[in-house]
Amino acid sequence: MDIAANLREVQENIRLAQQRSIHAAEHVRLLAVSKTKPMEMIQTAYAAGQHEFGENRVQELVPKQAELPEAAWHLIGHLQTNKVKYIIGKTKLIHSLDSIALADEIEKRSAKAEVVTQCLVQVNIAEEESKSGLFVPELADFLDAMADYPHLHIAGLMTIGPIVTDPEEIRPVFAELRTLFLRERERGLPHIEMQWLSMGMSHDYPVAVEEGANIVRVGSSIFGSRS
Ligand SMILES: *Cc1c(COP(=O)(O)O)cnc(C)c1O
Repeated sequence: MDIAANLREVQENIRLAQQRSIHAAEHVRLLAVSKTKPMEMIQTAYAAGQHEFGENRVQELVPKQAELPEAAWHLIGHLQTNKVKYIIGKTKLIHSLDSIALADEIEKRSAKAEVVTQCLVQVNIAEEESKSGLFVPELADFLDAMADYPHLHIAGLMTIGPIVTDPEEIRPVFAELRTLFLRERERGLPHIEMQWLSMGMSHDYPVAVEEGANIVRVGSSIFGSRS
């Protein structure tokens, strides 16, 4: 397993996808999804110049962040309200804000810690039962409500594409999230900043970049498959 070579290959694929599409963002941030992977592999990636990592469980993010606080840690998985207290001040970005109850808790804990927590709103475009995230018709009202949360800053949107064999099938899902992102940017709510569009994983990140993602979350293509 050559992590540095994998990182170069993913970066190259991102670059090629950017060149192919008029919708592509000028700058795309690569998150290396290190869930279940040991610190040794993360240190190797860090030494190779990869400084942003994604984890989907609070219990795993917290100790890894403590070992490598100079890296930027992103929480990308579903967040339970009772876990919020452990991660305030430890994440660069929470990608999975999807309920008012969770926003309430993030606000309360962030105010207490005197920090502003950066979040993306997760949208369940395909309305899959198994996935968390707001449904599309709920998004606008949810964003309106975020005006009352001074210690929680909305910085964009995130989605997880449905699992399909051909990544082309996901393209309409990513295109729809981009459309929502642009719609909300246009609406220009003063308390919202539509800056980050987080979509794309190992099997579909080139399509996500073509459709405008400016954060992609790539795990197995960098660190190998998970058991
Ligand atoms: C695990 C995970 C990823 C990365 O998945 P890979 O297929 O290994 O690239 C991306 N996003 C989320 C939310 C994940 O849970």
